[in-house]
Amino acid sequence: MKILVTGGAGYIGSHTCVRLLEEGYEAVIVDDLSNSSIVVLDRIEQITGKRPGFYPVNICCKKELDEVFEVEKPEAVIHFAGFKAVGESVQKPMEYYSNNISGTLTLTECMKKHGVFSLIFSSSATVYGEPDRMPLGEDCPKGVCTNPYGWTKWMIEQILTDIAAADERWKVTLLRYFNPIGAHESGLIGEDPKGIPNNLLPYIAQVAVGRRECLGVFGNDYDTPDGTCIRDYIHVCDLARGHVMALDHMKDQNGTEIFNLGSGRGYSVLEVFHAFENACGKKLPMEFRPRRAGDIPVSYCDPEKARKILGFSTEFDIEKMCADSWNWQKKNPYGYGENAPCEA
Ligand code: NAD
Ligand code: UDP
Repeated sequence: MKILVTGGAGYIGSHTCVRLLEEGYEAVIVDDLSNSSIVVLDRIEQITGKRPGFYPVNICCKKELDEVFEVEKPEAVIHFAGFKAVGESVQKPMEYYSNNISGTLTLTECMKKHGVFSLIFSSSATVYGEPDRMPLGEDCPKGVCTNPYGWTKWMIEQILTDIAAADERWKVTLLRYFNPIGAHESGLIGEDPKGIPNNLLPYIAQVAVGRRECLGVFGNDYDTPDGTCIRDYIHVCDLARGHVMALDHMKDQNGTEIFNLGSGRGYSVLEVFHAFENACGKKLPMEFRPRRAGDIPVSYCDPEKARKILGFSTEFDIEKMCADSWNWQKKNPYGYGENAPCEA
């Protein structure tokens, strides 16, 4: 079965392509490389022995995307392509709404034209806003987002739900990711943010490898056991496996399904920081800074629905997540950049 993977050269997309290829699917990537590197294709091939199809196409470009569908004739789509930097989305809302929402509309139009009605979408726990109960179940109401990036996820979920409600041929799966971290255990693919990392794990990893001086921990006066925020971290390879399980489930599915993908367990910023110190075998510089605007104190999921319906549960704990993240970072101190080609 052939799967079209938008954004498949990115962090989560590349790990999902590996899993798809390992499970006997064919994968065709459409990625404009706006936040990724062509080197990823070699790395996927090194890991799996198979090279995914690749089109350097912006999904907002209907003509080019249409040609990909015409040539490749995929049976389903996993849709990762989109901009994802929270802070940047506040500075550049038009770019975010345009790329993420127009891109999704163009994609669904092309899918419909070519008779492809199975779509898995990368959503996020951010759509829950500031919730009044924990853990977060899929039945919790969607909340108020604190930035344009979050709103694009919120709106795309609504658009896809409406599309599936209007035409029963559609099967749409909305996967709400919690905090994906880690890397493939080969160290050949991983997270490679451009510029200063916004997220916790890549920041710690860059401190550990000597690219940044010190981790700033945003707030130690929250109402949590150690005063720092709590999140539900999920190994990117567990997340990738969740996509393939959601794909397998689609044959029995009607309309829209929503699944949380997380472990169901929360870790504080300090717990993650210390787990990373253990993984890299050294003490790392850290200082407390003021709270970051918009941060929710505690967020973790109820993973029960994904377990019951998809048979999905996470395998890897925080130690493994940090170990794999460090393995990737030390083998590729500058990510896919030219400075440090990986020889693993
Ligand atoms: P990423 O930036 O590594 O991957 C996204 C890929 O999409 C990149 O390779 C980029 O080049 C490509 N892309 C962007 N706009 C495109 C366009 N118009 N046409 C074609 N390609 C385009 O991000 P990621 O971390 O792998 O995230 C994948 C998806 O999961 C995104 O939609 C993101 O919002 C969502 N998500 C990520 C996280 C996270 O913490 N990483 C959490 C929740 C949801
Ligand atoms: N965080 C931090 N320092 C950083 C980056 C993040 O203390 O340099 C904290 C952040 O305040 C939050 C947690 O780590 O409490 C996870 O942040 P991230 O941005 O990775 O994920 P999100 O907040 O989007 O869940």
